[in-house]
Amino acid sequence: MTIWLCATCGVEFEAELPPECPICADERQYLPVGGQIWITLDALQSTRKATVQEIEPDLYVITVSPSVGIGHRGLLVRTEQGNLLFDPPGYFDDDLLATLRELGGIAAIASSHPHLTGLSISLSHRFGNIPVWVNGDNRRWVMRPDPVIQFWLDEAEPLPGLKLVQCGGHFAGSAVLHWPGGAGGKGAILTGDTIGVNTDRATVTFLRSFPNRIPLPERSVRKIVRAIEPLAFDRLYDGFSPGLIAEGAKESIRYSAARYIGWISDAIRDPDERV
Ligand SMILES: [Zn+2]
Ligand SMILES: [Zn+2]
Repeated sequence: MTIWLCATCGVEFEAELPPECPICADERQYLPVGGQIWITLDALQSTRKATVQEIEPDLYVITVSPSVGIGHRGLLVRTEQGNLLFDPPGYFDDDLLATLRELGGIAAIASSHPHLTGLSISLSHRFGNIPVWVNGDNRRWVMRPDPVIQFWLDEAEPLPGLKLVQCGGHFAGSAVLHWPGGAGGKGAILTGDTIGVNTDRATVTFLRSFPNRIPLPERSVRKIVRAIEPLAFDRLYDGFSPGLIAEGAKESIRYSAARYIGWISDAIRDPDERV
């Protein structure tokens, strides 16, 4: 069966392709110069390579080069109850499938939000139709409906000990994955675009659109902080290498949120600005 995906976001589609990818036609994304481009997984096979690298014990990053779609990283969390693939890539080949099997296979798939769902459904089918967890508030952005999709709201536990937590913001159903075993037992969260690590590697941001630089209202930023506050974690990985807050991640989120709200609410002023 031919697997079609949008070249710009790397999300897979049903065989009946629309004129444009709704995810990329949305104001949070963009269409390429010249308009929509569709590609097939087969056509990518000879031109891409996927690598898997352990970045801390039981956490593996999947990198596709040259990148496909938005160019995010997939993250595989290994647990004794099975492995979870978070934010799957828009590419796989036989080598990658073999490597994933050597690591124990995949028992569940989840994404932070619609931009980073990649080849979720195809991967589920390759691993015995395992559940693909999709937040119910993102239902209209599902481009390849399939019985393996498991809709959830607010919180879900796709594997024992691993928790999906809905934060909203970038998308109404934007989520993070809480992994209590991360960071040597201090806990880690995987955030995709729900919380993005800044270039300073110390602070984070929250945006309705990253490529089009659309901010979020104070209400949404406060909701994200409220959602992560009860979770025990010290480390944060976002969806794009090297996006990492290695320690003090919760404090970084609190500080960054207060600063963000200060600027958008006019509570902070540039000291050089003449009043
Ligand atoms: Zn797209
Ligand atoms: Zn996004």
